[in-house]
Order: sequence, then structure tokens, then C-alpha cells
Amino acid sequence: MSRLYTIGEMLIDFIPLQTGRPLHEVTSFKRAPGGAPANVAAAAAKYGSPSYLLTKLGQDAFGDYLLQELQNAGVNAEHVRRTDEAGTGLAFVSLKENGERDFSFYRNPSADLLLREDEIDPAWFAPGDILHFGSVDLVDSPMKTAHRKAIRAAKTAGGIVSFDPNVRLPLWRSADDCRRAILEFLPAAHLIKISDEELEFVTGISDTETAILSLMRGDVQAVVYTRGADGAELYTRSGRYAAPGFPVKALDTTGAGDAFVGGLLHRLLELNADPDRLSALLDRHHADILLFANASGALTTTGSGAISALPDRGAIESLIAGRSSAV
Ligand code: ADP
Repeated sequence: MSRLYTIGEMLIDFIPLQTGRPLHEVTSFKRAPGGAPANVAAAAAKYGSPSYLLTKLGQDAFGDYLLQELQNAGVNAEHVRRTDEAGTGLAFVSLKENGERDFSFYRNPSADLLLREDEIDPAWFAPGDILHFGSVDLVDSPMKTAHRKAIRAAKTAGGIVSFDPNVRLPLWRSADDCRRAILEFLPAAHLIKISDEELEFVTGISDTETAILSLMRGDVQAVVYTRGADGAELYTRSGRYAAPGFPVKALDTTGAGDAFVGGLLHRLLELNADPDRLSALLDRHHADILLFANASGALTTTGSGAISALPDRGAIESLIAGRSSAV
């Protein structure tokens, strides 16, 4: 089976034990492993895909903890580097009453940003492998250059490149810097996942359909537009599909988008997707792929944290079976 590689940050999310309060009023936190690329790799691994994270962790206790958690989640950590030049990244996530979240990041810089391009080996990638990345580690850093090299290597090998812009403005000097970096990397991806909250920010276009279609340039073959509790839409080069969300009691939406992406990429690997037939494959299997990804995202909101809240395959299948029998 082909492999999933994710590149970017792995960090510790500190989650308030009291919800619905501003961060300055929170008195205690629980640690949970996080970072979108790590979450996506963990989700795909949990569903049975061979998954690798490409990152760097600090040579510190937080790095030891994350490495352990990554391995416990079934992600292959053989390409995870360590450094004593910077500490492992930390993020404080404050939760509002409805489970939506705000972030406060500690990284100036964090260890992940120090992964260098010479630490990416093009020989890792094979035809049909998927490389997934986000925007959090596209700030000017060695890691940005490492992303360029990994993307080039994955494509040269015949792999699929997937991008979730995952806008986190507090991490950028300005909103413009963030948008510019996202727009630079977008056309290099075959598949884009973008949420309703991010679409207008990234494209500058308020009409949803026009905005999504504006992303179809360069190598982009498909855009998945996620709409929180309302599910997701998929635009391919020739089709447009929608799938409703699963009604669940959301406790903490951290990692929902990542679980969605991990589920989606896992299904693509199972279906032996390749970059030349990606759009056609999605046209054929859109219903099953979106069902799986939506169920993965929905169930992840019912637990706290990201990796710690990932459902197993059985729970996804039961949720899907419940819907099928209700129809
Ligand atoms: P992100 O987490 O990247 O902001 P979304 O909020 O759109 O992305 O969530 C991604 C996916 O997770 C949705 O498409 C949906 O499948 C699932 N999801 C998110 N929030 C909920 C919710 N409250 N109830 C059910 N499913 C949800």
C-alpha cells in the first residue's frame, strides 16, 4: 500500500479544563499532542494507512512526550529529527461554550521550523504516495524550504500533494504574509482542503462557488470545502458534490478538520489514487470518500483534544451504518 507523508508542526496543545472562559481566566490545562500534520498522520494511521511525519522536535521533555504519542498513534517516526537549538512548539487552545477554539502559540522559533531541506530525502517517495502539508510552517524558516523540496520530490516520484491552508493568523507578522505564502503553495497541490472560515480570506472573493473555482489552477484537481457541522463539498475538474455532516454532540472541535483530511487521504490510499487520475477517481468515489471523512471529523469533535479524540475505524463504520439504515 502507498504511504502518507505529512510535513510540518507537531506540538503540544494545552487545553483548558474549564470551557467557555477567556484564556486569562483559565486556571488549569490538560496537555494533548497536536499540530495539524501530526493529527492528519495519526488519523490515517489509525484507519490503517502507513503514515510518516516529517518534522523536528526539541531535545526536551515535551519532544520526548510527543515522540512517544506519535508512535502510540501508529505513525512511523523514523524521519522525525531532534534539535537542541529550539524548544518543542506549544499552543494554548481556549474553548468557547460551543466548542469553537482560539489559539495562542509559543514558538520563536520552535524546533519544527528548523527542519532543513537537506534533511528531506527524495528517495523516500514512491508513485501513489501522498504528501500533505499545511500553512503553519510556511513562515520564513528552513522548514519552508524543506516543504518546497518535499513537494518537488513527491511530485517527481509520481505522488499526490495535498494542502490544507489551515489559517492561524497569530503565527504571522501580518495577514498579508500569511495569504501570500498560502497563495504561493496552492497551485503546487493536487488536492486542497479549505474551510468555510478560510475561503474568503485566502481568495478575497465572497461568493463561495467563484472563490472555490478560483483555487482550480496550477496542478489543482480538486477542492474540498468543509463546513463544520454542515459537512463538506467537493469540487473536481468536472463535478461538484455535497455531503451533509453527521449530527453529533460537539464537545471540542480541535482536530476535526485534520481527522476529516486523515480520513479522506486514507480512503485515497486505499483506492490507489494517483495524480493523473485523481479528479476522475474522486468523481467516481465521492460519496463514499466524503461519508468516511465526515464521520471521521464528526466523531473527533465528541472527545477532547485532536489525536486523543480520533475514533477507530469501527466507530466510523457504525456511524455510517446508522445513517444508511435510517435512510
Ligand atoms: P476545520 O476544523 O479545519 O476548521 P471544519 O470545522 O469545517 O474544518 O470541520 C471539518 C469537518 O469535520 C467537517 O466537514 C465535518 O465533517 C466535521 N465537523 C466539524 N465540526 C463538526 C460538528 N460540530 N458536528 C459534526 N461534524 C463536524
